[in-house]
Amino acid sequence: MFAWEDLPASVVVFGPGVIGLELGQALSRLGVRVRVFGVSGSLGPLTDPVIRAYAASTFNDEFYLDPNARVTEMERDGDQVVVTYLDREGRSVTERFDYALAATGREPNVRGLGLENTGLALDQRGVPLFDAQTLQCGNAPVFIAGDANNILPLLHEAADEGKAAGENAASYPQVKPLARRAPLAVVFSDPQIAMVGQCYADLAEGHFVTGRVSFEDQGRSRVMLKNRGLMHVYADKATGCFLGAEWTGPRAENIAHLLAWSYQQGLTIGQMLAMPFYHPVVMEWTPPSETASMCQSGKCVEAQPHRRGRHHERYYSWDRSSQERVTGARRE
Ligand SMILES: Cc1cc2nc3c(=O)[nH]c(=O)nc-3n(C[C@H](O)[C@H](O)[C@H](O)COP(=O)(O)OP(=O)(O)OC[C@H]3O[C@@H](n4cnc5c(N)ncnc54)[C@H](O)[C@@H]3O)c2cc1C
Repeated sequence: MFAWEDLPASVVVFGPGVIGLELGQALSRLGVRVRVFGVSGSLGPLTDPVIRAYAASTFNDEFYLDPNARVTEMERDGDQVVVTYLDREGRSVTERFDYALAATGREPNVRGLGLENTGLALDQRGVPLFDAQTLQCGNAPVFIAGDANNILPLLHEAADEGKAAGENAASYPQVKPLARRAPLAVVFSDPQIAMVGQCYADLAEGHFVTGRVSFEDQGRSRVMLKNRGLMHVYADKATGCFLGAEWTGPRAENIAHLLAWSYQQGLTIGQMLAMPFYHPVVMEWTPPSETASMCQSGKCVEAQPHRRGRHHERYYSWDRSSQERVTGARRE
């Protein structure tokens, strides 16, 4: 794709992961007819079903995206690919495309290295079994870093792992575990998608509360005409510690860094809110200020500007137990 000198008229993308979404949306915005098909409902790195559904609906305003697609037939016809699928209403649709883009994951390129001759234990893909902490393969002076180990196929993780693997190789047989930074992932779609800290799917049920931020009525996002987005912030019910966040929305890459640094510092929501927030920026609404008190009460807040200053702000709070939504205005 990156070698194309001209744009095709149509592309079918398989895999709405990070790469499929970024490239699919870019092609669509360049005027290419795009359909994106996924399996099992997954979308980007998101695991929170509410955020996932919101993101899917946002992208569907621009191009056809079915994260849970049912493709029934696919064949090559000359220079084209013919795909038959059931649309969301269950109707059978057949479409022709100039290209099929398979963005369904990458495999470590270890073929041809002769690893089978090393005596290392290999998995079914031929990748050596390794310790995810030290990156050491068995007890051998062999280390595996970056996309080849497929733990976290991200550039900053590959760089950290490369350094750690190199240090362990140099100090072998003394090897030490790699110190990981706070989990951080950004999808460069529009709106962006981001995840920080623990993902929703990994949180222990009943032990966390969720703060909810909508970017739809957020001042700065509205002025930029980017007021599309929804964030969930997770906090430990007992300690008030920030556990993680998943969202789609404007300036997610910037918010993600603030949240990742907070996560790595082990901050509580209260400590995060004691930090300065300037007006008018997108970050003003994150994290929702009542997340801290929710930790004790178990209540969930829908949207809450926590800006300080002499401003009137509309606020919404939502008590999940009573399903009651309260709207009001207050002077801060
Ligand atoms: C389209 C795309 C977009 C991405 N966007 C992002 C992003 O926005 N942010 C982010 O953090 N990450 C992103 N990534 C992931 C990121 O690029 C990788 O995680 C990172 O490059 C991994 O670094 P690495 O050194 O492990 O592997 P690579 O960067 O792939 O380097 C491996 C090198 O080894 C060489 N090689 C392969 N096999 C052999 C062999 N047998 N012998 C010798 N050399 C060999 C390859 O030619 C290559 O030069 C993206 C990836 C793709 C494909």
